[in-house]
Amino acid sequence: MKRSLAELEVLVRNRICKVCTERTVAGSCGLEEPASCALFDLFPQVARAIDSVWSDDINDYVAAIRKNVCSGCGAQSPDGSCEARQRVRCALDAYLLLVVDAIEVATGKVFDRQSLGLKAGPMLRARPELRL
Ligand code: SF4
Ligand code: SF4
Repeated sequence: MKRSLAELEVLVRNRICKVCTERTVAGSCGLEEPASCALFDLFPQVARAIDSVWSDDINDYVAAIRKNVCSGCGAQSPDGSCEARQRVRCALDAYLLLVVDAIEVATGKVFDRQSLGLKAGPMLRARPELRL
């Protein structure tokens, strides 16, 4: 199953925006500048970061996002900290599990999420076919 970047973004938007705390009752993004949402502002980098990793350890995917997405995000400080991340105001970070889940649907990856952010050991089944 191959999906284009645009298709993947639509899939992720459908999964994330509807549960995002920034979403208004009218169904739109409540951010003052919706285009500033790091998840979608940096979506090509997010998708490529995830696609660049083939590992049994989902933490490798988290690391890839930190390295390839956060490093180029204007919200990250030179010391690697991020106030938006600390305040749970970054949709990419706050909904990372759902983002990964959406990527799974698109690529066929299946992770054991129990170790996400905690310890190694997730299983990955089926080679992704997403090439961005
Ligand atoms: S902040 Fe991002 S994830 Fe949340 S509703 Fe807005 S565009 Fe969607
Ligand atoms: S966690 Fe911070 S640095 Fe990383 S994408 Fe989100 S806002 Fe940007």
